[in-house]
This record gives sequence, structure tokens and C-alpha cells, in this order.
Amino acid sequence: MSSLSLLYPVSPHVVTRAWGVADELYKEFGFLKHNGIDLALSEGQEIRAPFDCAVSLVGNQPKGSGLFVCLLSTAAYDFPDGVRARVELSFMHLSRTPVSKGMRLGAGAVFAYGGHTGRATGPHVHIAPKRVKKGVIGYRDLDRNDANNTFDPDPYWIQDYARTNS
Ligand SMILES: [Zn+2]
Repeated sequence: MSSLSLLYPVSPHVVTRAWGVADELYKEFGFLKHNGIDLALSEGQEIRAPFDCAVSLVGNQPKGSGLFVCLLSTAAYDFPDGVRARVELSFMHLSRTPVSKGMRLGAGAVFAYGGHTGRATGPHVHIAPKRVKKGVIGYRDLDRNDANNTFDPDPYWIQDYARTNS
């Protein structure tokens, strides 16, 4: 049994919008509730990997996520509901990133810098967490809900900041 533990990716850890908050704003993206959490940061601030992972996607959606990076956990985790799954975290509204798809990252590695690209009123990082399982073509979402199939990351933070191991 191994349970998910996430290091805080930015310092300080200030949640400006929690997971699951209902808002009409999300309707245009096809869901009803906040599909992640928002953390406050400053423009250009370092964002660090919360766990050992690989970069599964780097993309840009100028009218939504802005510049984003998806990190897929190296390990699979056991959840309280009996599900065993890997976790994919998508980080949005970034100003820039030095990583590309396929790169492996240790916990604490700087993989992006904060910004407000895409639909964002000011600098923050939106983190969308999904439980995923390997399917025939890539990974598929395990959760089905009106927060765009994400899960609440709140119980999984281990109250410590990601740091570079060196
Ligand atoms: Zn958000």
C-alpha cells in the first residue's frame, strides 16, 4: 500500500480557490465546478514538482489554460475508496517552462514559472489533479464528476515544500 503524498509546489502555500467550488464561469469549458485548486504566486516564481514524475504533456490554450504542463506520477497510489491509480497534475497559466514531454523529474525539480497566461485575472497557478489508468491509447481518467473528472487534492498535501535535492 502506498498512499499519495504531495509536496507544496510553491512557497508560501496559499489556496485562493478550493477544489469543487461551483461557478457558472466553468460552463463554457463543459463542467460546473472548479476542477482543481488555485495557488497564489508572483509572476516568474519557481514551481516545483510535488512528486517523482514524468512530463506527460506541454501545451498552450490561449483562451483557457494558457501555457500548461502535465506531470504523471512515477508511482501508482492506493486511495481510500480502493482505487489504485497514478496521478496526473496539470499546472496552468504558466509564464514559461524549460521542460518537454517525456522528461523525467524528481520531486522538487523546478519545471515551470508562474504567470497569468490564458483565462486568468492575475498571476496564480491552477492545479488540476486526476486519477488515471493506462488504457489502450495512453492514460484515461478514472473519476467521473462535474469537476471535469478531477479529485480534491486537499487531503494529500504533506505540509512541506518541494525542494531541489542536491
Ligand atoms: Zn483555478
